[in-house]
Amino acid sequence: MDPVSIAIDGPSGAGKSTLARMIAKELGFLYVDTGALYRTVGLYTLRQGVDTKDPEGVAVLLPDIRIGMRYDDGGVQRMDLNGEDVTDLIRTPEVSMAASHVSAIPAVRAFLLDTQRELARRHNVIMDGRDIGTVVLPEAKIKIFLTASAAERARRRCRELREKGIETDLPSVLRDIEQRDRNDSSRAVAPLRPAPDAVMCDTTEHDLDASLALLLQIIRERL
Ligand code: C5P
Repeated sequence: MDPVSIAIDGPSGAGKSTLARMIAKELGFLYVDTGALYRTVGLYTLRQGVDTKDPEGVAVLLPDIRIGMRYDDGGVQRMDLNGEDVTDLIRTPEVSMAASHVSAIPAVRAFLLDTQRELARRHNVIMDGRDIGTVVLPEAKIKIFLTASAAERARRRCRELREKGIETDLPSVLRDIEQRDRNDSSRAVAPLRPAPDAVMCDTTEHDLDASLALLLQIIRERL
């Protein structure tokens, strides 16, 4: 039987990764956080001192980037950049913005496409990102577009960053989220938008448990 794919797309901070991880555990699927791939390219670009908005400058770096993805004993997706574990280093606000910039570059998207498709060819996956249902896995069995208001997403992201020990304040997190929303939605290649056959889910008024129950119901109805 062919592996089953579930695509979860939506803007930053909508709860995609937390929910997708929980659903993956519940269903025994592999959870793939595709944002981590763009973040790893963003981190490498920053380290090389190259402008993250410069398509040619970034494209020249790609042949030197080896990205490794593995899962630790707790099922956490760990990212390696040329052999170095960068899992925690890619979560800073600076790398978030770099990821948003490099992800608008067509060469970067092409560079990461096969890695994502290969995972879906080999495993039952629940994959979260921006263009999974539209570009990466247009044949996915289930597509969900997860949103929440920008203010609520900023509150959640702020809490998450603080839990990781990253000092931050709500206005700057909100500014970053709105900026990334604009970047992700307005770019020419693979912009953030729901696939025509995606189920729309707004979690602004739902806590985590309620959102999880809602998504599991949607998924089970369709599996
Ligand atoms: O999901 P996360 O916030 O970790 O993603 C970081 C950035 O990578 C996003 O702001 C977005 O610009 C980009 N991204 C993307 N396509 C994906 C996943 C992430 O363009 N499938």
